[in-house]
Amino acid sequence: MSVKQIELTVAPPAPHMVGDGFRVHNFIPSVYRLEMQRMDPFIMMDYNSKFMFPPTDERRGVGVHPHRGFETVTIAYKGKVAHHDSAGNSGTIGEGEVQWMTAASGILHKEYHDESFSRSGGLFQMVQLWINLPSKYKMSEPKYQAIDREKIVTCNLPNESGHIEIIAGKYKDLKGAAETFTPVNLFNVFLNANKSTDFEFPSHYNTFLLVIEGSIKVNQSETIETNHLVLFENKGEKFQIEAEENSIVLVLSGEPINEPIVANGPFVMNTKTELIQAFRDFHAGKFGYLAE
Ligand code: MN
Repeated sequence: MSVKQIELTVAPPAPHMVGDGFRVHNFIPSVYRLEMQRMDPFIMMDYNSKFMFPPTDERRGVGVHPHRGFETVTIAYKGKVAHHDSAGNSGTIGEGEVQWMTAASGILHKEYHDESFSRSGGLFQMVQLWINLPSKYKMSEPKYQAIDREKIVTCNLPNESGHIEIIAGKYKDLKGAAETFTPVNLFNVFLNANKSTDFEFPSHYNTFLLVIEGSIKVNQSETIETNHLVLFENKGEKFQIEAEENSIVLVLSGEPINEPIVANGPFVMNTKTELIQAFRDFHAGKFGYLAE
């Protein structure tokens, strides 16, 4: 087993607003060297770094829009998001919770700050990922997994180092609650100051991390500050993170699907013909109905 070295460290790119509720740094796919093919199956990552939203009576967020061909995963660190989709699912994602929505053949949804959160205002911090689906599942039935607090699987680290919340995939013998279509590991790592822990993934998996809180040292060399991303090489299996202060780190590793990716806006397919079909089906109302 050899060490997985850092390929690239990325500072958060300038933020932009998605609707009026999400102030995000888009890491994937707009940062050079974090393109969809390189990060496969993680084809999009928007990060709302910690941001104070003042109180409002308005509804902040993104209105009804479609998706086809992949899954959207929303991880809440601060604040609260309410959402509804055309398959009849709805819910609220609170701090420490995750929503795993399989758009697959097509869904409409809307994502807003929870009403009570909007009224009080407060710190908001969230990650949204798009995870690609292999061609054979792109047109399967939409699906919805609400991974609330009681479903989060936690592994305590030895020596009071902290704990790991396993959202998807496997850490040691513990399996996360999310059902995935291809191998995906998604962990929230809570590491106490001056403690360290190791991770091990197959070398060909695309592997990266995002520092949510605090600062860490990777492989006893480079210091990585809050809101920075580290992409690892597709060589070696094992890496170490050490917390320089109490830290939270999102660790992601997935097996590449290795299929052609043809993406436009909210649709991610394998061919241009499928992409055109997605726009046609959407305009023909085949994604169902959802009130604004
Ligand atoms: Mn969406």
